[in-house]
Amino acid sequence: MLRIVNGRVYDPINGIDGALREICVQGGKIVETVPREARRIDAQGMAIMPGGVDIHSHIAGPKVSLGRKIQPDDHRCDVHIRTPITRSGTGGTVPSTFATGYRYATMGYTTVMEAAVPPLGARHAHDELADTPVIDKGLYTVCGSNLLIYKMLQDGREKDLRHVVAWLLNAAKAYTIKLVSPGNDEVWKGARNSQITDIGQTITGFELTPRQVIKALIGAACDLGLPHPAHIHCNNLGHSGNIATTLETMRLAEGRRAHFAHIQFHSYGGQAGHNPTSAAAQIIEALDRNPGLSADVGQVMFGKSTIMTADAPMAYMLRHYSKDKRWVNADTECEGGCGIKPFAYQDHVYTHALQWAIGLELFLLSKDPWRLVLSTDHPNGGTFGSYPRLIRLLMDREFRKQEIGKANRKAMKRTLLLDGLDREYTLQEIAIVTRAGPARLLGLKNKGHLGAGADADITIYDVQDDKEAMFAAPRYVFKDGVAFIDNHEFRNDHVGRTLYVAPDYDRAIEADVKRFFDDFYTVQFENYGLGADDLGPREAVPAGQVA
Ligand SMILES: [Zn+2]
Repeated sequence: MLRIVNGRVYDPINGIDGALREICVQGGKIVETVPREARRIDAQGMAIMPGGVDIHSHIAGPKVSLGRKIQPDDHRCDVHIRTPITRSGTGGTVPSTFATGYRYATMGYTTVMEAAVPPLGARHAHDELADTPVIDKGLYTVCGSNLLIYKMLQDGREKDLRHVVAWLLNAAKAYTIKLVSPGNDEVWKGARNSQITDIGQTITGFELTPRQVIKALIGAACDLGLPHPAHIHCNNLGHSGNIATTLETMRLAEGRRAHFAHIQFHSYGGQAGHNPTSAAAQIIEALDRNPGLSADVGQVMFGKSTIMTADAPMAYMLRHYSKDKRWVNADTECEGGCGIKPFAYQDHVYTHALQWAIGLELFLLSKDPWRLVLSTDHPNGGTFGSYPRLIRLLMDREFRKQEIGKANRKAMKRTLLLDGLDREYTLQEIAIVTRAGPARLLGLKNKGHLGAGADADITIYDVQDDKEAMFAAPRYVFKDGVAFIDNHEFRNDHVGRTLYVAPDYDRAIEADVKRFFDDFYTVQFENYGLGADDLGPREAVPAGQVA
């Protein structure tokens, strides 16, 4: 039992913006009140927020493991020391499971979603997630590159699709479906160095276009009433002029819900093969016009990163772009591919500086922080460890000016950052883009707020002028009411829950799926799906109203 007094509470879902409120905790939940003898924390001079929620990150699964494996040098430089309470690990841009959980939690984040696991990799990913301490977690499973789904769509079986998707979600114990540049991996495998450049193009080996795949999967997620809609990585990521593809993909939602991942990487004007320009304003306008759509930014931060994506051709394209020649291309039978490439964003390089600026433009132009939330697409645009710095860039105009001054001048001149874009995020807006907004977009009713009944995931920061310092090291972090960080010290270890959905479907579809497995997979149908017992501590999140 716990009573937190004298702190300023930032709880946007409940409309509390910096008011002095008491927060009471019992049995891992927020409650109205607790008995007098409950432990009391005096939070004078502190800001109290719900635990952070990361809607898009890469923390577990086969591609994350490959990212770790090819960078042993990173691990040697950044050892995560064990304490009497917590375990050891390694850091770098792709931290080990233990370091991932502890480092997120040490920053005040208590829920993190792994954004791209092919169903075949789900067993591996869940094993890693079970080993990731403190935080609650879940995974999105890649369906937009799945040959079974392509085949069904090609055969005109759109009505059966939702049953296959529901079966896949159950088999992978996933939280929602993910699309990654639909069609791209098949075209890539089918003809060397080819890619989908237009979503009306035919996917190699099929009479089908990415447009049909995207539309059908947005529909399937809505029909199943998933708490979080289809999570889409649009085609043409990173290419000049990709704004056309992004807007066209958004139009396919036709008023239904859809989430657009790391939208910064999809906000480029200019012509293919030439330097990109910023199309941030067009993205903001499109989000504003379509209330069913949401996005996370995918901010680029200067410094080391690791590109890791189910968009295999992307890693191939980037393989010569840095001194570090390591890269991986891997195939996931019938379900897509992946690419991994150690990378570094540099402030003097035009494209990198422009990407950094476009992310900031998106944040600063955003009209609805509930639908445009914070991410760096960890570790793609930068690591989650750079969030405090990003928050300072948003909250501190003078600091931002200094950083703009160091970046490539030509790139800065082509953005709105030099045109008096002087917005400063408030603590309440930061609370929206880092917890309340993502929790709401994920349909997690017990997260992202501090009302009675919410999970007691609470972060308490010392209010400081230096917002980077403030958000890097909260004074208290509670997970399910357990004090993980207590007065800046580790006091407990903790195991969080895996969040997943279990939508109903017509069991008759399994005969079709099994036939496909017999013909094309090396894995037996019977050995493929996970049972709930294969997960660690877990929570099935109910599907909402069928849209
Ligand atoms: Zn991603």
